[in-house]
Amino acid sequence: PRLANQIAAGEVVERPASVVKELVENSLDAGATKIDVQIERGGHKRLLIRDNGSGIDKEQLMLALSRHATSKVHSLDDIESIATLGFRGEALASISSVARLSLTSRPPTQTEAWLAYAEGRDMQVQLKPAAHPVGTSVEVADLFFNTPARRKFLRADKTEFHHIDELIKRLALSRFDVGFSLTHNGKCVRNLPPCATDAAKLKRLQAICGAEFCRHVIHMSQDGGPLKIAGWLLKPAGCGQQSPPQYTFINGRMIRDKVITHAVRQAYAGYVSDVGLTGYVLYLELPFDQVDVNVHPTKHEVRFIETRLVHDFVVQAVAQALSHTQQ
Ligand code: ADP
Ligand code: MG
Repeated sequence: PRLANQIAAGEVVERPASVVKELVENSLDAGATKIDVQIERGGHKRLLIRDNGSGIDKEQLMLALSRHATSKVHSLDDIESIATLGFRGEALASISSVARLSLTSRPPTQTEAWLAYAEGRDMQVQLKPAAHPVGTSVEVADLFFNTPARRKFLRADKTEFHHIDELIKRLALSRFDVGFSLTHNGKCVRNLPPCATDAAKLKRLQAICGAEFCRHVIHMSQDGGPLKIAGWLLKPAGCGQQSPPQYTFINGRMIRDKVITHAVRQAYAGYVSDVGLTGYVLYLELPFDQVDVNVHPTKHEVRFIETRLVHDFVVQAVAQALSHTQQ
């Protein structure tokens, strides 16, 4: 199983940021409202993700480290919906096959916490009592210590840190209701409390996208029946800053998609000369059966069932919002 896990790890665990992504998604699945990410040396040396979610029972702890241990997928329909973020049931097993992983957890029903870790050549899972508030901490040390070929591909600490920071930004833009913090080498670099009000949301938007973006931004929202779009757009007059924020979320998930990018640029084309310098944070919602999110294991890509329809809806909605800024 070790080898199978390492092969699976090749798909899920590309770099420290992909580990953080899987672990934070687990925390979100567990209903956490506060997620703290601590990393050392860009995450190569150590990663710690701590949440206040529903925790894992002592009996389930060992199981959680074994492959296909998901507690989330109950039928094929579940796989096809993206109601929960994770679905493969092998992230923890994969990560623990290429790093030293320990899992500490306390569900609200237990008065004490337990820690599970894999030890020895055969990676026997051990359990011992631990101190921990309700929730879960996952610690990952020495990523790729046993897979030198993969370790070679790790970039400088700074680069890996940048990937993790980008990830936290995206997650924070997709879940305003959850608090996130990021600590690098003992220094807190992001502290984003949960946002209950519009003012708090704007504050988070500013922390992530910058003051310059927020100064020139308009809020837009349009409900087109099954298709809905909302978010923030740079006013044409504010376009021109280098590398403006460009984020698209589909059904709550950050994606990179040519269809949407093209649609947004087409809407801006009448207003700005360089459509590459438009800035936006957009949230698109469409019925689960209109979008296939499982095109790629890291799930940054999607495939629309009715591409044309989605494209034209976005063009029209963005163009309409921009037309208001010209009056
Ligand atoms: P998946 O998320 O696809 O189910 P994982 O390997 O990521 O698979 O996690 C295995 C299982 O461990 C999850 O299904 C869940 O039951 C449990 N688990 C992992 N992380 C957490 C967490 N932070 N809080 C609560 N349960 C967790
Ligand atoms: Mg998972």
